Amino acid sequence: MKYKKTTYLLLCLLIVSMIFSFTACSYKTRTESPKAKGRLVIYTTFYPLYDFTKKIVQDTADVKIIVPAGVEPHDFEPSLKQVADIHEADMFIYLDPCMEPWAEKLKDTLTQKEVIVVKAGAGIVQNNDPHIWLDPILAKKLSHKIYDAIVMADKDNKDVYEQNMAKLDDMFDELDEVFKAELSGLVAKDIVTTHDAFGYLAERYGLNQIPITGISPQQEPSPKKMAELVDICKQKGIKYIFTEALSSPKLSESLAEEAGVKTLVLNPIGGLTQEQIKKGKDYFSLMRENLENLKIALSE
Ligand SMILES: [Zn+2]
Repeated sequence: MKYKKTTYLLLCLLIVSMIFSFTACSYKTRTESPKAKGRLVIYTTFYPLYDFTKKIVQDTADVKIIVPAGVEPHDFEPSLKQVADIHEADMFIYLDPCMEPWAEKLKDTLTQKEVIVVKAGAGIVQNNDPHIWLDPILAKKLSHKIYDAIVMADKDNKDVYEQNMAKLDDMFDELDEVFKAELSGLVAKDIVTTHDAFGYLAERYGLNQIPITGISPQQEPSPKKMAELVDICKQKGIKYIFTEALSSPKLSESLAEEAGVKTLVLNPIGGLTQEQIKKGKDYFSLMRENLENLKIALSE
């Protein structure tokens, strides 16, 4: 009788501890995973990815950006704190290793932590040139990759994302239409840019890009190359040299001075300045400013 009672007690204890560990376990997942709270936490690397993702989710998910305002995104390295934060997210969106080599390196540990990793430029980026967002049609393709990943991760809000994506599609189509309409009539086609960011845009709208520096603005030209550029500007009758917002205008300004021409901004939209954020600028308004400056440079 006594033996039976002990077994019974032990059995009870076992059941209680099993129930406890089960609830503790599910409690743990509930507090640690933002998914269970119903809101996705999405980390994006730099501005165009942030802007497109934000326009797809609006207020339905949390979208964060790694590269801070006013910082040129090429050759950026995140802090240890930022890397730790990304590991707590539901999703991490980057473009391509040719833009964010550091992001590619995080892939394995992120996957281990069950963070969904989205390489949004896959199948779109060509020849290690990351600047696909500057062609509205490729930017639309890129956004659809982001959209597909978000819908897969958060099916409950598919309707909201679908509506937002339809609006974004219209915005890209409209931008493409206006670029086509406004640029096709201009006779001049050569644009001298600060860094090699406008290859996709030039190809889309029949322009010829002459970049001063390489795919990244840090790749500076030799004095010989600068002298050649001065000659090209004179031969082709270039009227403006383009500068950009986040990298030094020194090279473009000295080229303009030597070639005896003026400068204008052509923004690669790798990031926004604090001032642009304050003014409520986004990818679309900056692309329209780019178009206005292209028209000035190519019609005089
Ligand atoms: Zn660039």
